[in-house]
Amino acid sequence: PTSPVCNANCFGCISLQPAECCPSPQSRIKFRPTPEEIAAIGIYHLEAAPEGIISFGQGCEGEPSLAADNISAGIRLIRARTGRGQININTNAGYTEGIRKIVDAGLDTMRVSIISAIPESYAAYYRSSYQLADVKASISYALDKGIYVSLNMLYFPGFNDRAEELAAWKEFFRELPVQMIQVRNLNIDPDAFLAIMPEQQSECVGTRAFLQELHQAYPQLVIGSFSHYVEK
Ligand code: SF4
Repeated sequence: PTSPVCNANCFGCISLQPAECCPSPQSRIKFRPTPEEIAAIGIYHLEAAPEGIISFGQGCEGEPSLAADNISAGIRLIRARTGRGQININTNAGYTEGIRKIVDAGLDTMRVSIISAIPESYAAYYRSSYQLADVKASISYALDKGIYVSLNMLYFPGFNDRAEELAAWKEFFRELPVQMIQVRNLNIDPDAFLAIMPEQQSECVGTRAFLQELHQAYPQLVIGSFSHYVEK
């Protein structure tokens, strides 16, 4: 973890809820690690671990790209010492300027948290200070620089498999050929969730058909559930 803050306000945020009536599973840190602190842990792990991965933002514990200056300086210190292992970021990718800095510093892989390829649906859940277009700009930049990009797709049967959502995903992957999607159960109160999301426009195709149709349209797209070590 590197950032105590986030530029989104997700309805189901797992690191900060308005009530905080129960402890969040990934409570936010209260300080900003320095580049030297980041590098010390990164070097320790990457120099020794087989297929080692370090990751900024292990899940959703605040948005790491808001600490882009510290992270990019930390990555440079790490890479001055060792070329081993993989450097990853788990991000909402809404702060494109920060993502650019981190990519340019030597990032290897990026996983982007996302719920929809439709701007209105995205905005309803993320309630962020940026737009889906910014997320797409970050992904486009990373792909252009040879970064392996996965999507952390928050998945809710009855929402994501709506025909209009599926059509938007097909268009998204045509425009942005990311390498992988990780389909993630969105563990949330269904009534509360559906109440804040846009109204359904068409039938749901079902989860199996949703995944099959994406696979048929984009056979090279890996459909999985966690980040693997990526051979360079
Ligand atoms: S992007 Fe992650 S940390 Fe930020 S509000 Fe959403 S769930 Fe929380």
